Amino acid sequence: MNNKITINETQYKALHKLWFVFGNNGKKHSHVNHRYIQNILEQGEDTEAFYNAKHTKEKISDECLGMVKEIIFKCPSCEGDIKYQHTHNTDWYGKLEYFDCVNCKDHLVIQNGNEINISA
Ligand SMILES: [Zn+2]
Repeated sequence: MNNKITINETQYKALHKLWFVFGNNGKKHSHVNHRYIQNILEQGEDTEAFYNAKHTKEKISDECLGMVKEIIFKCPSCEGDIKYQHTHNTDWYGKLEYFDCVNCKDHLVIQNGNEINISA
């Protein structure tokens, strides 16, 4: 159920910094935010689907997911950095997370935590 992800040294350092905001009793700490980032750092495992499954009470915060994806994903058209905008939960399409490319300004969307696409 957990996706394996590979991160480079730069991504590792950026995630580690984020971990002290969303985990480690940082300003936006929650238990699942902490575990979610820790699993990426220590096991290379993306546990978003696991923690957001219906049987778990506490969810990873939208902001935490968005900020982590800023680090993990690149713009599919230009490979530039992306900036998290907002999350929209829909009945038909599930969770939609919106990003903008800081380089080419494309609007990007991730559906249900998976792949990044250019949004219509
Ligand atoms: Zn771009």
